Amino acid sequence: MADSAPLEPLVEQGSAEEKFREFLEIRGEKLTEPRRVLVRHIFDSHKHFDADELVADLRTAGRRVSRATVYRTLRLLVEAGLLRELRLTNRTAYEHDFGYPSHDHMHCTECNRVIEFRNDEIRRLREAISTEHGFRASAHRFVITGVCPACSRARSPRRRLDLI
Ligand SMILES: [Zn+2]
Ligand SMILES: [Zn+2]
Repeated sequence: MADSAPLEPLVEQGSAEEKFREFLEIRGEKLTEPRRVLVRHIFDSHKHFDADELVADLRTAGRRVSRATVYRTLRLLVEAGLLRELRLTNRTAYEHDFGYPSHDHMHCTECNRVIEFRNDEIRRLREAISTEHGFRASAHRFVITGVCPACSRARSPRRRLDLI
């Protein structure tokens, strides 16, 4: 698989924290201390995570942020265009939208792993379909659901035994 290497981050003007502060100011809200802790923590590393994983992760890092604040801040970060929501078969995951190139995903239903890939054909298809319908595309969601190579390998010896 040629495209499984991590994607290069984009160079953006300003930090995610600054963008979030701007977004909140427009809405007449403040970047409170718990929100600041969350944004910094989330934009420290690129990964796919769900709300519960984030809560556990924060606890491990010794940062105390209430579950309610985590849920509300995640919603705000999606609205601000800083996080992207990924609806997977059995959970909702989040990842950086800010500072990261557009890409698509494969989701393993056995181990829950999310694998990223970039494919220009999908982008071309999106443009072709949109043009055909007079639609102006700004984004799309494309998730391939199935079984990853590691889980396929773990499964196959059992299968072979079944055949005997
Ligand atoms: Zn797997
Ligand atoms: Zn991704």
